[in-house]
Amino acid sequence: MNEAVNRLIDTHTHLDGFYRKGQLASVLTAAQEAGVGKMITIGTEPEDWGLYRTLSSSFPEIIHYSVGLHPCSVDEKWEEAVVQLTSYKGLPSLVALGEIGLDRFHLPRNDREKAERILTCQQNAFAAQLKIAEKWGRPVVIHSRGAFDETVAMIDQSGVDWSKVVFHCFSEGPDKIKALNERGGRGSFTGIITYKNAEEVRQAALQQGIEKFMVETDAPYLAPVPHRGKRNEPAFVFHTAEFSAEVFGVNFAELARVSTRNAIDFFGLK
Ligand SMILES: [Zn+2]
Ligand SMILES: [Zn+2]
Repeated sequence: MNEAVNRLIDTHTHLDGFYRKGQLASVLTAAQEAGVGKMITIGTEPEDWGLYRTLSSSFPEIIHYSVGLHPCSVDEKWEEAVVQLTSYKGLPSLVALGEIGLDRFHLPRNDREKAERILTCQQNAFAAQLKIAEKWGRPVVIHSRGAFDETVAMIDQSGVDWSKVVFHCFSEGPDKIKALNERGGRGSFTGIITYKNAEEVRQAALQQGIEKFMVETDAPYLAPVPHRGKRNEPAFVFHTAEFSAEVFGVNFAELARVSTRNAIDFFGLK
């Protein structure tokens, strides 16, 4: 058995908070001890892109990164940010564009007009970044909350190669993942899959199959059982993988081998 391939990959994490609190070294050590060999720290706004570029050059074997303007980071200045984003093209260890997409969940609830304005900005920023994604031909990490069908429709229109598209933190049911898979896209799974009330999400993982399965933490959010409700960190992707092995009815080594191979292939990791 190849040990290197059995090490887990946290395909979606946010390291900026750990770095700012001086916790990065201990978080990386804990990940190493939990068998998490690599992680992808996902960009959300210009402030973290630069940091992630620096971190990945400091830890080239462990930390890869992406750049993208998260829908919740979109404001009136989104165009400037997207121009900045294009300067990352072709940089070594940049593995993906994202996370980008649509988020209706965090829109203001008591001001309809404002919510519509923000959503329009999100759609424009998403469309502009999908254009870049199409040019770059790199994997695209999609964030979609409360906006699944709209997000799918915008990707359909964009001409982006669906085989490069992952809906991260997949938290819909089997029908929706089928819609992604039929187009050649996929979903990846956070600790939500370990939650008691997440039977739909487990069914979605089964519907897609282990041959496309990838794990992520989305740390510092969404800690898996047995850490649910606490601060999440890349080491905890171990629990998500362990639980997922049971969902798929395979042993842990097999789940680790397949999900890591999938992540390496999908993101083109070295
Ligand atoms: Zn997200
Ligand atoms: Zn995220």
